[in-house]
Amino acid sequence: MITKHAHFDLSTRNTFRMRVRCALFVEVSAEEDLLSLDWDALPQPVLVMGGGSNLLFTKDFPGTVLHVGICHSERSEESWTLGAGVVFDDFCAWAASEGLWGPENLSLIPGECGASAVQNIGAYGVEAKDILTDIRAYDRVEGRFVHIDPATCGYGYRTSRFKTEWKGRYIITAVTYRVSCTPQPKLDYGGVRKALEDSGKVLPSASLRDPVRANASGSTLPLSPKDIRDAIIGIRNQKLPAVEEMGSAGSFFCNPVISREHFRRIVETARKDNGPDYEVPHYEVGDQVKVPAAWMIDQCGFKGARSGGAQVYPKQPLVIVNASGNASPQEVIGLEQQIIQTIERKYGITLHPEVEHV
Ligand SMILES: Cc1cc2nc3c(=O)[nH]c(=O)nc-3n(C[C@H](O)[C@H](O)[C@H](O)COP(=O)(O)OP(=O)(O)OC[C@H]3O[C@@H](n4cnc5c(N)ncnc54)[C@H](O)[C@@H]3O)c2cc1C
Repeated sequence: MITKHAHFDLSTRNTFRMRVRCALFVEVSAEEDLLSLDWDALPQPVLVMGGGSNLLFTKDFPGTVLHVGICHSERSEESWTLGAGVVFDDFCAWAASEGLWGPENLSLIPGECGASAVQNIGAYGVEAKDILTDIRAYDRVEGRFVHIDPATCGYGYRTSRFKTEWKGRYIITAVTYRVSCTPQPKLDYGGVRKALEDSGKVLPSASLRDPVRANASGSTLPLSPKDIRDAIIGIRNQKLPAVEEMGSAGSFFCNPVISREHFRRIVETARKDNGPDYEVPHYEVGDQVKVPAAWMIDQCGFKGARSGGAQVYPKQPLVIVNASGNASPQEVIGLEQQIIQTIERKYGITLHPEVEHV
């Protein structure tokens, strides 16, 4: 079924809650709908949208917003195929409740399954590409459905060919993820192991390869994907604003990767500010260094900073929130620009937004 709405209000369709409209909103609920759409008659350009959780609408959209509301779900022994419109976290919850390993570390990431393959979503040491086995899409150039091998998608940190040279070409209709009954816990990222130890689900003395949890009688049980999902939901809820309560698009900026020489200069600046023993948080990436953008934003005094109704989230400075509920795109962009310019002046680094500006 195809539904169409002219001059459509997108405020409930983007998690930043920007009050903008598109000329036409089209929703399809089956693959055949994409074949019967009169593409040339649609207001241009066409933007395919999932849950709108990685988008910042900067103004009214002059063209067509297309939502792929295809929501089937088929499970086989070692894989799970999901329509593009299935909420990604529903898949994580279903897999965990069936004791299947694979997506548990990606729990609670907002958005839909179609976009998960565009974005290469990632969290707590796992990325979509690690478990993605097939992508089905409508190729607008060829006018036919294709299967795309994830190995050809150029996946990197929150990026893929869908965001670059393939932009606008493929409309993803379904994705297939690998799931497994074989335990494969990944605990060593972002405090997951500690959260499980604190809740008694993992014994502090447990071997790294075979984490176990204690049961009431003091003996041990294998750790389940649901244990990890629950721990990650707990961590995420403490750090990130729930999209139902406060508008945002998650991490606003990408973490920059710089040369070792540049990093040495940043350490010098940080030690002038914070004392001679101060340690700058960083991760080695080959012969370069990744510096958390949140750390720089915090060091520049932006935690909690406001521009009208937009605010740097006090608990996680990498997130800009629509604190008032009616922040305008210009207020969000104003804050973004202040942050970019201040960090450029202080550290010589240009931050790039992770959130797609439309
Ligand atoms: C509070 C919060 C926390 C977040 N945490 C994380 C996190 O931990 N890790 C992470 O990776 N991301 C995170 N995000 C970002 C976001 O959830 C992901 O990028 C998600 O995949 C976006 O999904 P969506 O359905 O909302 O896509 P949208 O924002 O609607 O679209 C994203 C992109 O995908 C394209 N697209 C969408 N659907 C299709 C389709 N069917 N076919 C072709 N192209 C399509 C769009 O054109 C756009 O370019 C967070 C966001 C929020 C608000």
